[in-house]
Amino acid sequence: MPGGASSGHRVGWDQVFVRSSGARLWDEDGREYLDFLCAWGPIVLGHADRRVNEAVLAATSTCDLTGVGPQLGEVQLAEMVCDLVPSAQKVAFCTSGTDAAMHAAHVARALTGRRKLLKFHGSYHGWSDHLAVGCARNGVTVDSPLDSPNGGGLHPGLLADVVVVEWNDVAGLERAFTDHGDELAAAFAEGYVHSFGCVPPAPGFLELLRALCDRHGTVFVMDEVKTGFRAALGGYQSICGVTPDLTIFGKSIANGYSLAGMAGTDEAMRYVGAYDTERATVDGTYNASPYAIAAANTTLEIMRTEGVVDRLYALGDRLRSAIRAAVDDTGARAVVTGLGSQWAVYFLDEEPRNFRQALRTDTGRYSAYQRTLLAGGVLETVAPTSDRRLCAATTEEDIDRAAEVYHAALAATVS
Ligand code: PLP
Repeated sequence: MPGGASSGHRVGWDQVFVRSSGARLWDEDGREYLDFLCAWGPIVLGHADRRVNEAVLAATSTCDLTGVGPQLGEVQLAEMVCDLVPSAQKVAFCTSGTDAAMHAAHVARALTGRRKLLKFHGSYHGWSDHLAVGCARNGVTVDSPLDSPNGGGLHPGLLADVVVVEWNDVAGLERAFTDHGDELAAAFAEGYVHSFGCVPPAPGFLELLRALCDRHGTVFVMDEVKTGFRAALGGYQSICGVTPDLTIFGKSIANGYSLAGMAGTDEAMRYVGAYDTERATVDGTYNASPYAIAAANTTLEIMRTEGVVDRLYALGDRLRSAIRAAVDDTGARAVVTGLGSQWAVYFLDEEPRNFRQALRTDTGRYSAYQRTLLAGGVLETVAPTSDRRLCAATTEEDIDRAAEVYHAALAATVS
């Protein structure tokens, strides 16, 4: 495998992980880690959750992939998503956030007859060409153009059709709509940014985006791939009160099984069709596979009935408090931000409000911090500006033990 693994974000690890259970991972040398990566989001209940796996097993042994008509459970899940997510009146399922974002762009173009997309600097929406711009991770500096492509091989003409705006930049957003508003099919935004850590919208920013989209007839796509069902069962839109036209989601919905989707208003979702020329086609052999659907129905049911989101918030608060106490005690130059089960530690003097500011985090101090965490059995991402998260299988004792490791890791950054 080029790079040694089949996914860019898994490249660069020495460890080979061979077992996962609850809040823990084990590598092939038998070392145990408290997992604060949670596979970048899907693991929300805990690894190898017995209830989810039993539901999947039942699906595999009763009616597996048929490839015809609706799948059993698909309708039930669609109804649950429509119940939970404020803007969802119709839903279509696919297998990844990349797919969902691509389909949302197609629907927006079919609806508006326009071609351009607006997105925010640093926000990641997967790898479909026009969205794979403006959040390159390597070789980016605070001076790089906002619309640097995220990788090689993307369509060379795409930059003509993408407008990238700095997150929380009111004047930049207004200017982008003044210059391009009537050409914009869609504006993509994470309601609460996790692509470069944990960066909330400034007060009024999402409301402004909503108003500009309304004024210019642009489809507002909220990317809830990371916030969906985890920040709140209704997604971040249920917290901020700003309702998009389309929502894309994935990750936490199925506790690790491959499921994602797009939800939206009846008006927007009228532009989903099947192989006609006026509407966008959502299609895929594995879309809404019965295994992933069984996993999602069970995961959401557990989350709904067992107060999982409240537990995630309580655990997240406990951990953020512990890290903040360690920052104060060690005198480390770091700030801690976050929402619910997610957090970020930036080696900066103040919380970043956008990607350029987040990029100023001290990477040398971050790598000393991350290495010490790993040696102490706490697994976090190697990426200095990324978010991190916990799952509901984490215990208070896990957090209290981890607090000691955080103290050592922050101390390692103080020279
Ligand atoms: N959108 C956001 C905000 C994401 O964080 C991700 C993945 O991390 C995606 C979209 C793409 O999702 P996937 O990796 O399932 O293709």
